[in-house]
Amino acid sequence: MQGFEYPLSPHIRRHGPAGYDDYASYRDWLRDEFTFRCVFCLHRERWYGRSGTFDIEHFVPTSVDPLGKCEYSNLLYACRTCNVAKTDVLTVPNPCAVAFGDCLRIKMDGEVEALNADGKKLCDVLRLNSASNIEHRSRWMRMLQTLRESNLDLYGEFMAFPTDLPDLRHPRKRVPSNSKPEGTANCYFAQRERGTLPATY
Ligand SMILES: [Zn+2]
Repeated sequence: MQGFEYPLSPHIRRHGPAGYDDYASYRDWLRDEFTFRCVFCLHRERWYGRSGTFDIEHFVPTSVDPLGKCEYSNLLYACRTCNVAKTDVLTVPNPCAVAFGDCLRIKMDGEVEALNADGKKLCDVLRLNSASNIEHRSRWMRMLQTLRESNLDLYGEFMAFPTDLPDLRHPRKRVPSNSKPEGTANCYFAQRERGTLPATY
C-alpha cells in the first residue's frame, strides 16, 4: 500500500552539508533528505501536520561518539516516538547501509512483519508492534484506503509533499561546505519550481 512500503535499497544521501556547529541547523536538509517522513516507521510530516513533531536522530549516539554530534552522515530524520524508543541503542541497522524493505513489511492489518534478524531488531527496539503503534498505523491505513476509493483529492493531500518545502539553495541555507551541490539544485523545492515534483509520493 502506497506510503507503507519500506525502501528496497539502502538510502543514498543526496546532500552533503558540513560545518555547522549546531546539529539543529541540519533539520531542513534532513527533512528533504528523508522525504519528510520518519526513516523507521514511515510516518509523514503531513500526517502529523507539523514538522516540529519530528526529531533529528543521532544514529551513533552522542554518548558513544561526541564527535558525531554535528556530522551530517550520522544524522537521520525520525518521528518523536521512534527517536525516543531508539534512545542510545546501537544495534539497529542503519537505513543508509541496509535496505529496510529487506527487513520489514507492513501488513494490511497494520502489523509490521520482521523478514530477517535486522527487521526483528528494528521491531523490538522501536516497538513498531506496540499496541498503540499498530492501532495508530492501522487507523491511518484504513482511512487512506477509504479516501483513495471515495475522495481522491483529499487522499492526494495526505500523500503529497508538505507545502513548506525548504529551499536549500537559499542564501540563508548556505553551509560552510557542501560536498553534494547537485543535491541542493535538485531539492524538492527546486523540483516544485520546475514543475517536476510528483503529486504524491
Ligand atoms: Zn517513526
